[in-house]
Amino acid sequence: MKKYNTKKIIIANWKMNPQNSEQAASLFKKIVLGVKKSRKSKVVVAPPFVFLPALQKIGGLDLAAQDVFWKDEGAYTGEISPKMLKNVGVSYVIVGHSERREFLGETDEMINRKVKAALSAGLKTVLNFVKDELRSDLEGVSQRFAKNLIIAYEPLWAIGTGNAAEPDDIFEMATYIRRNIFDILGKKAAYETPILYGGSVDRKNAEAFLRARGVGGLLVGGASLLSKEFIDIVKSINV
Ligand code: PEP
Repeated sequence: MKKYNTKKIIIANWKMNPQNSEQAASLFKKIVLGVKKSRKSKVVVAPPFVFLPALQKIGGLDLAAQDVFWKDEGAYTGEISPKMLKNVGVSYVIVGHSERREFLGETDEMINRKVKAALSAGLKTVLNFVKDELRSDLEGVSQRFAKNLIIAYEPLWAIGTGNAAEPDDIFEMATYIRRNIFDILGKKAAYETPILYGGSVDRKNAEAFLRARGVGGLLVGGASLLSKEFIDIVKSINV
């Protein structure tokens, strides 16, 4: 049984940025070029939905959506289905980001539906975890889909604040998360689910997180909008 992925997963969460497709394409191209030789990491870019097809066309990196709905089709104005994401070549999706909980009222019940729909569609599903909602968010998830689950641990006070957690504290949290995954999804998933850290990651602190025990990668917000900064983050584990 492999412990967890040896390649670090580094996800650029662009949130509601940039403002047009030219800027999105330009940023994406710079990142593709800058991380091309990075063998120790798997870099994934999560742009706003509207840029996904154009970035897919440019190619060079896997793409993530920042959200997904739990139904495949129908009268759900404004929503995007797992199938639609797959059809534009998206392979990852972030589910339950704390900003969606805060600004859009997403509940554990909604997040749980999204997790199940995304996993059963075969999307690698990055569940944003901020405190103790793991059990409700993963309730009823089948063990056979667990191989596509990724947990992104982000202390709320660290998101977008410039105050990152201490790498040493992440191990404790990762252990707690693995214990919960063991109870919900069994031993294999507990060992193999990558646990990412997110919250004010920058080029100065990235290496310590990437080398911290139990950390399978990073979810990077603000710093992923600055191509040089983000490339340095990726390179911190690849030099
Ligand atoms: C995030 O929102 O997922 C995040 C980690 O943001 P930041 O890196 O800006 O703290």
